[in-house]
Amino acid sequence: METINTTLLIIGGGPAGYVAGIRAGQLGIPTVLVEGAQPGGTCLNIGCIPSKALIHAADEYAKTMHYAAQTSPLGIKVDAPSIDLEKTVAWKDGIVKRLTGGVGALLKKQGVRVVRGWARVLDGKTVEVQPHEGSGQEPVRIRCEHLLLASGSHAVELPFMPFGGPVISSTEALSPSEVPRRMVVVGAGYIGLELGTAFRKLGSQVTVVEAAERILPAYDADLVKPVASSLERLGVEVRLATSVLGMEGERVKVRDASGVEAYLEADRVLVAVGRKPATTGWGLEHLMLDMNGRAVKVDEQCRTSMRNVWAIGDLTGEPMLAHRAMAQGEMVAEIIAGKRRWFHPAAIPAVCYTDPEIVVAGMSPGEAAAAGIDAISASFPFSANGRAMTIESTDGFVRVVARKDNHLILGWQAVGVGVAELAAGFTQSIELGAQLEDVARTIHAHPTLGEAVQEAALRALGHALHI
Ligand code: FAD
Ligand code: NAD
Repeated sequence: METINTTLLIIGGGPAGYVAGIRAGQLGIPTVLVEGAQPGGTCLNIGCIPSKALIHAADEYAKTMHYAAQTSPLGIKVDAPSIDLEKTVAWKDGIVKRLTGGVGALLKKQGVRVVRGWARVLDGKTVEVQPHEGSGQEPVRIRCEHLLLASGSHAVELPFMPFGGPVISSTEALSPSEVPRRMVVVGAGYIGLELGTAFRKLGSQVTVVEAAERILPAYDADLVKPVASSLERLGVEVRLATSVLGMEGERVKVRDASGVEAYLEADRVLVAVGRKPATTGWGLEHLMLDMNGRAVKVDEQCRTSMRNVWAIGDLTGEPMLAHRAMAQGEMVAEIIAGKRRWFHPAAIPAVCYTDPEIVVAGMSPGEAAAAGIDAISASFPFSANGRAMTIESTDGFVRVVARKDNHLILGWQAVGVGVAELAAGFTQSIELGAQLEDVARTIHAHPTLGEAVQEAALRALGHALHI
C-alpha cells in the first residue's frame, strides 16, 4: 500500500476542512485533504447554497403567481405562470457544480493534495483511505504530524420514522422531481421553515409540526412574530406543541399537548429535527477523545484532548454554521504555521432565510439580562423606513442591545425582507467594540434598509429622527 507522509492531514472537505486546506497551502504547510463525497461538504452540495437557490426560485415563482392572481397596485400583470422544476433543479445543480469546482481549483492552486475516498483513523498520526468502489485506485495510508478532523454532521433521524420512501431529509428535498401535493414538515427550525416555505411557494400544501410551543424556539418571540404572520398569510398550517408518532400508510400520526391525536395526509414528510456531529463509522473512537455531548470537545484553539489532533466545524457541535466552520479552519491552519491565534469571536452571526429573513449577532435583550448585564435596547420598525416602503416590505424591525453604562453594543437582531445583508455591519460593529454613538453618527446611505440600523442606535440614545 502506498504511504503518503505529510505535515497536515485534513479529514473532510466541507467549509471547515477546505478553508483550513487553502490557508495551510498559502502558509506553505504540506497538506493532504481526504474527502469521501464531494469537495464543499454539506454546505455547497446539500446545504446552504442549494437551499438558498431553491428558496430564491420559489420566491420568484410566488411573485409571478401573486401578480397573476390579483391586480397589483404596481400595475404589473402576469398571465398563467408555470414552473419547469427539472430546469430549476438543473440551474441549482449548476451553481453547486461551479462552486465545488472552484473549491477543487483553489486547493490545487495552493498545492493541497486531495485524496478522494473515505478515511479511517488508525491512530492520532495515521489514517487509511479506501477509494470509491470502481475508481480503480488503490487504498493509501497517510501519516501526518497534525491530524485535523472536519467530518461535519448528519441529519438526525427519528427512530420510529426512518428516512426512506416518503420520509426525506433536506438532501432529498433539495432535488425534488416534482412538487409534492401535500408535504408535512417535522421541526419548525432553520431547515423546516426555510424549505417548508419554499415548497408552499412552489405550490405544495404544507403542514409544519413542531414539538416546542413556538416556531424557531432558538430565537426570541418578537423576532419570530413577522415570520409566523407570513406563514399564516401563505397558508402554511403550523401545529405547535405537537409530537409526531409515526407513519400510518400515507398519513403522519401526531398528538397535541392535550393528548388529541390526528392524521395528516402527506406525499412527502420532511424530517428536520436537527443535525448531529459525524462521529461514527470512521475509527474516531480509536482516539478516545474527550467529548462534549455528541460533539468532539475542543479548547479555544480547536485542539482536542489528544496532542496535535484538532477538530473544527459541525463535528465540534453548536452553532453548526458554515461561517463558524470556515473561521475555525482558517485559525487552525495559522496556529499550525506558528501564529498565535484563539477562537474568541465577539459574535457569530446567524441568518434564517425564512420569509421574512431573521438575522442575529451577539446578545438579545434576554441574553444580556441573563448574563447580569444592565443593558438598554431599542428597535426601529421598517414601517417607518422609506426603502422598505418602496419594496413593499414594511414588516419587521431592527433592534440594538447595548450596555447602559458605556453604550458598548452587545447585540443586534433584525427581521424583515433582505435583512440577511445587514449581518456584516452588525457583526463588525460588535467585533470593533462600537458604541451606540459610533453607529448613530455614521452616515448611512439613503434610501436603504440600513438606515433602520442607525435609527435603532439613535432611538437607544433617546433621539430617533424618523419616528
Ligand atoms: P460538512 O460541510 O458536513 O463537511 C464534512 C465533509 O467531511 C463532508 O463532505 C463529508 O463527506 C466529509 N467526510 C466525513 N467523514 C469523512 C471520512 N471519514 N473520510 C472522508 N471524508 C469524510 N449553515 C450556514 O451557515 N448558513 C446556511 O444558510 C446553512 N444552510 C444549511 C441548509 C441545509 C439544508 C443544511 C443541511 C445545512 C445548512 N447549514 C447552513 C449548515 C452548514 O451546511 C454546516 O454548518 C457546514 O457545512 C459545516 O461544515 P463542516 O465542514 O464542518 O462539515
Ligand atoms: P434546528 O435545530 O434548527 O430545528 C429543529 C426543530 O425541530 C426545533 O424547533 C425542535 O424543537 C424541533 N423538533 C425536534 N424534535 C422534534 C420532534 N420529534 N417533533 C417535532 N419537532 C421536533 O434543526 P434543523 O432545522 O434540522 O437544522 C439543523 C442545523 O442546520 C441547524 O441547527 C443549523 O445549524 C443548520 N442550518 C442553518 C441554516 C442557516 O444558517 N440559515 C439553514 C439550515 C440549517
